[in-house]
Amino acid sequence: MSTPLIRRRLRVSGIVQGVGFRPFVYGLAVETRLAGFVGNDTDGVFIEIESEAATLDAFVAALEASGPPAARIQRIDSEDIHPVGDTSFRIVASHHAETGTALVSPDLRTCDDCLRELHDPEDRRYQYPFINCTNCGPRFTITERTPYDRPNTTMRPFEMCDACSAEYRDPADRRFHAQPNACPECGPSVRAIPPAGDPIADARRRITAGEVIAIKGLGGFHLACDAGSDPAVALLRERKGRVEKPFAVMVSNLEIARSISFIDADEARLLTSRERPIVLLAKRTTTAVSELVAPGNGYLGVMLPYTPLHDLLIEPGDVWVMTSGNLSEEPIVTTNIEAIERLGVLADGYLVHDRDIHVPCDDSVVRILDGAEYPIRRSRGYAPFPVPLPFESPPILATGGELKATFCLAAGYDGFMSQHIGDMENLETLDAFTRAVDHFIDLFRIEPEVIATDLHPGYLSTKWAERQSLPVVKVQHHHAHIASVMAEHGVRDSVIGFSFDGTGYGADGTIWGGEVLVAGYEDFERVGHLKATPLPGGDAAVKSPAKMALSYLHTAGIPWSDDLPPVSALPATERAVLTAQLDRGINTVPTTSMGRLFDAVSAIAGVRQSVTYEAQAAIEFEALIDRSEGGAYTFVITERDGLLVIDPSPTLRSLADDFVAGEAVGVIGARFHRGVTNVIVETAERVRMRTGLTTVGLSGGVFQNVTLTRAARTALVERDFEVLLHRLVPPNDGGLALGQAVIAAARR
Ligand code: ZN
Ligand code: ZN
Ligand code: FE
Repeated sequence: MSTPLIRRRLRVSGIVQGVGFRPFVYGLAVETRLAGFVGNDTDGVFIEIESEAATLDAFVAALEASGPPAARIQRIDSEDIHPVGDTSFRIVASHHAETGTALVSPDLRTCDDCLRELHDPEDRRYQYPFINCTNCGPRFTITERTPYDRPNTTMRPFEMCDACSAEYRDPADRRFHAQPNACPECGPSVRAIPPAGDPIADARRRITAGEVIAIKGLGGFHLACDAGSDPAVALLRERKGRVEKPFAVMVSNLEIARSISFIDADEARLLTSRERPIVLLAKRTTTAVSELVAPGNGYLGVMLPYTPLHDLLIEPGDVWVMTSGNLSEEPIVTTNIEAIERLGVLADGYLVHDRDIHVPCDDSVVRILDGAEYPIRRSRGYAPFPVPLPFESPPILATGGELKATFCLAAGYDGFMSQHIGDMENLETLDAFTRAVDHFIDLFRIEPEVIATDLHPGYLSTKWAERQSLPVVKVQHHHAHIASVMAEHGVRDSVIGFSFDGTGYGADGTIWGGEVLVAGYEDFERVGHLKATPLPGGDAAVKSPAKMALSYLHTAGIPWSDDLPPVSALPATERAVLTAQLDRGINTVPTTSMGRLFDAVSAIAGVRQSVTYEAQAAIEFEALIDRSEGGAYTFVITERDGLLVIDPSPTLRSLADDFVAGEAVGVIGARFHRGVTNVIVETAERVRMRTGLTTVGLSGGVFQNVTLTRAARTALVERDFEVLLHRLVPPNDGGLALGQAVIAAARR
């Protein structure tokens, strides 16, 4: 007696298109000897299989256990249907429905098979800078619309040659339905401006000789120069108008990366991952990297080649600055014409190609914190893979904030976080934002019903939201930070949130940034905050830690003695103006910003009196910490109208005394960081006593400081708190949109 045949219909969702999923299913079906078919539609992959029950179960188990390397299965739904008596397995044509949300794969680093072919003189794609296959290559940045088929990508103008189209049609081939499939015969090519015989060798020669070359990459242009050359890096800084903000470097392999930075096993895994982000690593002192690359910084951003072009360009021993091709804070340049117009003043030459970049996408920046990923900028390699939402959401667009802007298009259980857009302070960035929003709406077929945005009336993103003809939900900045970390971890109950950053518009119209919240998704209560101090002259104070220091000293009742660096750094006339401002409250706004406290203390400790980029003072202060020092400064927590107010006066007094007594800056830094850690724990204890809550969320740009974040987490865990840290989106404003989206969803 034979076992009865069963037919099973499977629906696989996740990143299952453009990643070799159908050939994988085909191979598996042939191997397990079952009949049926597989195909793509706008929801993902559909499969019907027919065999005995045990064979079908084995097939599904194998599918779940091991997809193709670039696939990410979110869910497999299955139902048994009537057998039809199929005898073979085949791949069927795509169904193009007008609904459904197929996921678009992020761009993928060159796979090992393609790298082997790239360096094989016998291979027909030997040294071809656009080699790719179903396991690797461009995806998101070339996709104009879904479904992900070649005519819907910027590969449309390139007609495949016979050899390429044979691979494309062969289910057993690694390039079966690889949409960007190409070869030197039929695909894109590189050229140099001004022209050169061997464009790649020419670019490398010029970079090695100290020039700045604009290189068209995957998500936009890079500006590249020799990282070991002081004059080359200085030239790039001068032309780009970027005084001190760190540059990232690219090196050819892990071994070279180890020669310029300290790398543990988790960091090595991240550096070589398919996402290939810039990884922030502890810096080594070496002549291969000029001090001008990341001045005063304890960390260095390092990445490995992620396209075949990079792999051909950079040789072992090369350490190159690779920074976004743009003028400061404008969107990244993606077209050859734009590059010549806008990068002309920055670059000595260009290495371009003729595959269009449809979606601008900057490199991601990620670090490792306590063995796991801690994102600083979530962009290329990650976007547009969705962040899973903790509950079902109506269609919502969340606009994010102002700096490091990203948006989130949410529907169902998916939060599609955009790539990094830039600082929304100019019209170019706003245009890029609008284009990216339209593209996401089109790609994922989600028509937002509501727009969530920041409470700040002055943000371009807020004004943009108000111009759309949709209901707007305004979300307080620090609540959004905490909701974002809650959403990542899928928590449902309220948490104690420490939302520490530089600036956010408070519910009372003042500037917040050192906030202790009891937060749910729908609402929050501000249960504590850093004691307010005047922010003299608004934005001017953000660039001047010295002024912030004087404001703090004034609030704490500490005299402006000449032996304190911020006092001597400011001319007497400026101090007189400041005194008048602070005494009479003219042209000042109260702020509870923790970022500004970090600025002030690094000024008092003699580290920075003025800054040229955001968080510079705190970054340089952290870099100097003496890890062997065990002391801590003290904060006082007072309770006023049920509100916990964290007063840094005793800290400032001890810090000023230590400085005057000649204490080393590293010791002062250690004592300050431990003081902040202790006050976080003490505040959390008080809130737990009052509310019974035991989960703490840490979010906001201040928690990019890993010395603080690590210490706070350890200390909180020791006191039996559960601690939520960011793992999927950044703690800075780049993660804000996720929080806005879930808050708006909860309120609907
Ligand atoms: Zn490949
Ligand atoms: Zn070809
Ligand atoms: Fe913020």
